[in-house]
Amino acid sequence: MANKRNTRGGGGAGGDMERCWFCGAERADVELLFNGQGGANICNKCIEHGHAILMEAAGQMGGAVKKADVGFDRSKLLKPAQIKEFLDRYVIGQEASKRYISVAVYNHYKRLLNKHDGGDVEIDKSNIVIVGPTGTGKTLLARTIAKLLDVPFTIVDATVLTEAGYVGEDVESILSRLLQVADYDVAKAERGIVFIDEIDKIARKGDNPSITRDVSGEGVQQALLKLLEGTTVNVPPQGGRKHPEQKFIQVNTSNILFICGGAFDGIERKIAARLNTHAVGYGRRDDGKQIDRNNLLKYIMPQDLKSFGLIPELIGRLPVLTYMDPLDREALRSILTEPQNAIIKQYEQLFALDGVRLSFEPEVFDYIVDKAVEYKLGARGLRGICETIMMDAMYDLPSVGDCTEYCVTEEYARSKFEKSALAAVSDALQAS
Ligand code: ADP
Repeated sequence: MANKRNTRGGGGAGGDMERCWFCGAERADVELLFNGQGGANICNKCIEHGHAILMEAAGQMGGAVKKADVGFDRSKLLKPAQIKEFLDRYVIGQEASKRYISVAVYNHYKRLLNKHDGGDVEIDKSNIVIVGPTGTGKTLLARTIAKLLDVPFTIVDATVLTEAGYVGEDVESILSRLLQVADYDVAKAERGIVFIDEIDKIARKGDNPSITRDVSGEGVQQALLKLLEGTTVNVPPQGGRKHPEQKFIQVNTSNILFICGGAFDGIERKIAARLNTHAVGYGRRDDGKQIDRNNLLKYIMPQDLKSFGLIPELIGRLPVLTYMDPLDREALRSILTEPQNAIIKQYEQLFALDGVRLSFEPEVFDYIVDKAVEYKLGARGLRGICETIMMDAMYDLPSVGDCTEYCVTEEYARSKFEKSALAAVSDALQAS
């Protein structure tokens, strides 16, 4: 590479600006040209070449450089129990999912280390699928895990994905997002974690896939397969639709961990059907044990995802299957006050910034939960109800100079909510 160094373009208009300073290639002849300080440029080929030389040098130095370059701090690697402890601070309940995710993330790091250190046994990826009703904390779990991760993380929505050639986004756009959060550092992106939300929306519709082209269903699942199992993908750096003139960045997905989430509305029926068949047919499942009919999701098995419309190949690449519990009254009450950034704590903080100590009669929390349950708003509705109750106080108090304490009573909460209940409910419904 050194003897090519001086082939910089000479002086003419746009000369240096449009060439790689290392190999002299013109912008039009390379896939990517990176601009550095002082007008220096380097093309993707030279970066790859440099990387190869570094790797070779690292090998000759007994792997010293290689080890330092694992991409995260080994000494800060959290154990599954510590990861779960962190999740506990933000997510109420959902013990099964929290444990599964903690182990999967921990294993993800170990897998990276193992690969990096050249372990004899190759560890397979454990992509995860989380099944649970909307508003039970799937996205919250994903966002929370992102807070403590040392690798790039992104959340994408499966509903925008379509098969190549149709209106919508190619599945590769998932990786564009990951590249963006990794500041276009490909090696970093290749260690990342992607949360694919609403995976159930790409289920095959109907049992016979051959009647019509299934634009948003099976075709997308097929396209996702490659990504999940690990392959090198040409990624459009800016996302969106691929087109022939575009320059691509190659990303290898074999170390990217995929976590998929979906509500899978109606899957309980498939689970119930399977459980009954077994109970009658073999009497094996839960021998002698009572089946919890209120929470059938906890019996979910991969074949239920298949009955729902996911193709077996995709299910095979999502080996870890877990579920979210429905949120009961007690969970909703805890969500109001317990998480690190619980809604009630947020109001207390808002008022404290105005020098007001805010407090609530405990009955207020029960009242809020009652309303969330009554209007079937779930956890998502809690904030809307709180806003309705707190709005007047938030409007008036800052103008009242000498107020230092403010207690929200049940009576006050009831009067404010009843006054504008309908408006609040429709707002909350729209927001959810
Ligand atoms: P999902 O992705 O399952 O549809 P979300 O994670 O978007 O649900 O939840 C919506 C909101 O409800 C969250 O932002 C959070 O405020 C609250 N919430 C839901 N479930 C929980 C939970 N288990 N613990 C704490 N808050 C929760």
